[in-house]
Amino acid sequence: MGHIKGLKCRECGREYPIEPIYVCEFCFGPLEVAYDYESIAGAISRKKIESRRQNLWRYKELLPIDGEPQAGLNSGFTPLIRAGALAKVLGLDELYIKDDTVVHPTLSFKDRVVSIALTKAKEFGFDTVACASTGNLAHSVSAHGAMAGFKRFIFIPATLEASKIVASLIYGPNLIVVDGNYDEVNRLCSEVANKYRWAFVNINIRPFYAEGSKTLGFEIVEQLGWKAPDNVVVPCASGSLLTKIWKSFREFKDIGIIKGLKTKVFAAQASGCSPISTAIKNDTDAIRPVKPDTIAKSLAIGNPADGFYASRVVRETGGYAEDVTDQEIIDAIKLLAETEGIFAETAGGVTLAATRKLIESGHLKKDGVTVICITGNGLKTQEALQGHTMKPHHINPNLASFEETLGKIKKGQ
Ligand SMILES: *Cc1c(COP(=O)(O)O)cnc(C)c1O
Ligand SMILES: [Zn+2]
Repeated sequence: MGHIKGLKCRECGREYPIEPIYVCEFCFGPLEVAYDYESIAGAISRKKIESRRQNLWRYKELLPIDGEPQAGLNSGFTPLIRAGALAKVLGLDELYIKDDTVVHPTLSFKDRVVSIALTKAKEFGFDTVACASTGNLAHSVSAHGAMAGFKRFIFIPATLEASKIVASLIYGPNLIVVDGNYDEVNRLCSEVANKYRWAFVNINIRPFYAEGSKTLGFEIVEQLGWKAPDNVVVPCASGSLLTKIWKSFREFKDIGIIKGLKTKVFAAQASGCSPISTAIKNDTDAIRPVKPDTIAKSLAIGNPADGFYASRVVRETGGYAEDVTDQEIIDAIKLLAETEGIFAETAGGVTLAATRKLIESGHLKKDGVTVICITGNGLKTQEALQGHTMKPHHINPNLASFEETLGKIKKGQ
């Protein structure tokens, strides 16, 4: 019915009706939403999109819902910032930052995927939503779930930063802290999802949830004046965001919204959890799972569900991948803040540090339009910077004390 045809297995192509299912019964391949692009091409245009409210639902014909949006009415349409000062440091001609440090309401790109997932969960008639999270998803499901009136079960690994735990609890969900890493939490959640009729946004609702990531790509194209960039650098956890950004560009081309498409897609990971970038560097699609050990906890998925597809997109588009150390992540967070005034979380540090290395190695060319995706806010991961920032100046409450310090500052002490 309408612009959605159904679900389709990414491996064997078998088709399924729109239901809360996510794997193919025959080949265990992941299911993906299939659209009727011909009818969508007739239904939207640049003009129509531009006339709509500035949130992620302005692309709703390319999102897998039937009725009206039920969540995320203020989410999306974040700034695309021309980053002149940073471009100079990196030696790039034309650099833009897609700034998802300011997505409403929980300050990471996860508000995009959750908006679609919870709208779909409502359409399916669920009263409880749940997720396995590395942190940001927990915040987003907790907050959007509160707004939409769902019961919420949030599962996180015990190793998460204390501030990330508070930022979920404040919305009043049932927060389940699991003694294990993300991959173990995820496995547990698959079992729970089999037993209870809950909408696990990144398990049984995953085919719909993941489509929300496309809105980041749609916005980049629209904000560049209806053209896709020459290069885009994307941080990878499960690899889903990267594949969906590429899908968004392709869909805009397929329905005639943009003409050409020659974007190179680059992947960024932390060296302490780099199954996808390692595969790409070794020129293979075979993902070898790892045990994560990195300060970039939001990207710490050792066995990435979409790693195979992400590495294929990178290799097919002529992009490449890089991974970066904890120190490089911290240095990049500082560089971004000092040049562009944007405070990114560790995942943002990963993206910028990897971009730097990709330029140095010549994989990412200095000419053309480059977009880097900064996907989460630094106020969430302040622990990672403990002991790595400048020190404040302590003074007594009098002018003499201030001027003594001012003297030292001027002398550069
Ligand atoms: C979840 C997340 C990502 C990447 O997610 P994928 O699983 O690869 O889609 C990137 N940045 C941040 C801040 C995240 O929370
Ligand atoms: Zn199949």
